[in-house]
Amino acid sequence: MTAARKIRSNLLVRPAANQDQALRLRERARLLELRYGAADALAVLSTAIHDIFPGRIAVVSSFGAESAALLDLVAQVDRATPVIFLETGKHFPETLAYRDELVSRLGLSDVRSVTPAAEDLAWADADGTLWRRNPDLCCRLRKVLPLERALSGFSAWINGRKRFQGGARGTIPVFEASEARIKVNPLAHWGPEEIRRAFDQRGLPAHPLALEGYASIGCGPCTFKSCGEAGSRSGRWQGSTKTECGIHRAPWAR
Ligand code: SF4
Repeated sequence: MTAARKIRSNLLVRPAANQDQALRLRERARLLELRYGAADALAVLSTAIHDIFPGRIAVVSSFGAESAALLDLVAQVDRATPVIFLETGKHFPETLAYRDELVSRLGLSDVRSVTPAAEDLAWADADGTLWRRNPDLCCRLRKVLPLERALSGFSAWINGRKRFQGGARGTIPVFEASEARIKVNPLAHWGPEEIRRAFDQRGLPAHPLALEGYASIGCGPCTFKSCGEAGSRSGRWQGSTKTECGIHRAPWAR
């Protein structure tokens, strides 16, 4: 198969691999939610990392404005927990420096910076401006597919989404099923006050761009300062209807 055909086949929406497996996973997520969904974030993380998915769970972090709160909790549980960072090649230099500062400060010992496949970029984004022409495809090549590869071998992944961020995040449970994995959202019920308190009480450093008014920080070309009451993620893909990069609604992640 040529490189271009292989990439195009990667972009096709795949049918659910196994309906029975998907149903079992949904039932498992439902039972986990019933049992642990009301526990505090540290207890959820400790249970997920040590008891439910030992050696089979990773954290996915953007090292953005609020990421330190989750990473600090993970470090309290186990500094060796794998942390996946999607190095899209489009991050602000401040984010890369902040990643290095947090990794050192928290003692995280297994941070994996995952890059897009060179052949994908050569085929679809040779000049690096795909974000302007087709941001969904850009996110797919630079985030969704690299994450799919990075999560191979893991049964579950942890992320920092919160209900107060609104949109599709407004009703997320603490445990949810993806096609092949359990997704853990230990901060689902946190609000801005809990995040502020975590930074203050734990002496966590702020992302330099958060100090300049960026409430949600992703890739440089697609991140702007948020618009006050429009919500913390209003600065992402400003001027378009796009609100998510796709890693939380990819066919393999549903
Ligand atoms: S956020 Fe923007 S630059 Fe980053 S992968 Fe998505 S479209 Fe591309």
